[in-house]
Amino acid sequence: MFSLTQFPLHFSESALAPYMSSDTLNCHHGRHLATYIKNLNDLSDGTEYADMPLIEIIKKSANDTGAKKIFNNAAQVFNHDFFFRCIMPNGGGNVPDEIANPFGGADKFIAEFSSVASGVFGSGWVWLVRDGDEIKIMATANADTPIAHGITPLMTLDVWEHAYYLDYQNRRADFINAFLSHLVNWDFVRENMKN
Ligand code: MN
Repeated sequence: MFSLTQFPLHFSESALAPYMSSDTLNCHHGRHLATYIKNLNDLSDGTEYADMPLIEIIKKSANDTGAKKIFNNAAQVFNHDFFFRCIMPNGGGNVPDEIANPFGGADKFIAEFSSVASGVFGSGWVWLVRDGDEIKIMATANADTPIAHGITPLMTLDVWEHAYYLDYQNRRADFINAFLSHLVNWDFVRENMKN
């Protein structure tokens, strides 16, 4: 049986303070992501999904109305692993030209990303993606992921309340600003743009 294990963080739980506290990382990475992984392993055990790579589980279950729970948990595993690789200590700040240029400059990229992230109603994700030849910003609701739509993720921010409520309470805009100014791993995003 294929069984996913926890994806390790690439930094210590205290390394992102004060922009993301160790309490948030302990709860978000240590408990929420761990629960999605456990649920996915439990739900897929004994099904056609049991031995599939994670990306294949997401693509197949997205079109399987009987596998909604598998889709939700698999997509959340992918989304969270991707998100935790999009952040790092002493990240953020100057937007690399190859990311800013498709939007007409860093200020416009930051304004559009922040606007879309602020506009997610309820739980969801904001993404920088490659869709065909186009680099663009999009949002997904709940567990939904660009992977399910044949769109390539380049960068993401989790805007579920569990991602920021311990540190920012209802101030999602402050969390978005902290992500862009202090947390984004631009090298990871640039690598994704090359592939
Ligand atoms: Mn989350």
